[in-house]
Amino acid sequence: MSAKIRVTVWNEFRHEKKHAEVKAVYPDGIHNCIAEGLSSAPDISCRTATQDEPEHGLTEKVLAETDVLTWWGHLAHDEVSDEIVKRVQKRVLAGMGLICLHSAHFSKILRTMLGTNCSLKWREAGEKERLWNIEPGHPITAGIGEYFELPHTEMYGERFDIPTPDKVVFISWFEGGEVFRSGCCWERGHGRIFYFRPGHETFPIFRDENIRKVILNACRWAAPRVNMADNCPNVKPLEPIRSKA
Ligand code: ZN
Repeated sequence: MSAKIRVTVWNEFRHEKKHAEVKAVYPDGIHNCIAEGLSSAPDISCRTATQDEPEHGLTEKVLAETDVLTWWGHLAHDEVSDEIVKRVQKRVLAGMGLICLHSAHFSKILRTMLGTNCSLKWREAGEKERLWNIEPGHPITAGIGEYFELPHTEMYGERFDIPTPDKVVFISWFEGGEVFRSGCCWERGHGRIFYFRPGHETFPIFRDENIRKVILNACRWAAPRVNMADNCPNVKPLEPIRSKA
């Protein structure tokens, strides 16, 4: 591990090419906007990768040089190759951090890591969202007040089909009445996983100061403590075993 946390910001990067409405919000792509938000932090070094690059931009070399991978996808989850998903999974189990954003709830990688369907309710009405910080002592909510609001969002509502998180740090309330576990933490193997709900492509969510703070905090929280691929060794005893039949 290097002194700086090496973050790879991964994006499907399809909406921004196809839909003028999205291009207007993210002219350089969602990945570059997220990377820009992280770039001012002195302890982060950032690169980006997108789905249509060879190997989805996630070669063995890139992943070996990645401490934390952030993931945004929506239209083309099924086009992500199983081989690359396996490769990312292996790195998470060995200690790499994974941050899945918004519609990445349905990404192959999150569903692989969590083992559930990860379905939820949704509605595109541009309504207000209030995110309640229910773990003010958690590193991911550092610098965030009791709550913050996004004026226009896509709604995600419960039930969110996930395994019970190790920690839920944000709960969202939506103008239309639903609630949602918006910031969820898990550990899988040696890796830390954070799911963060906001990030619909037609709203400038990734330019919001609180959102940028949470993503930065999450990168710091998810940074690896070890890089260790576990195998299944047959071992000699530490001391002689005398009770053997
Ligand atoms: Zn969305």
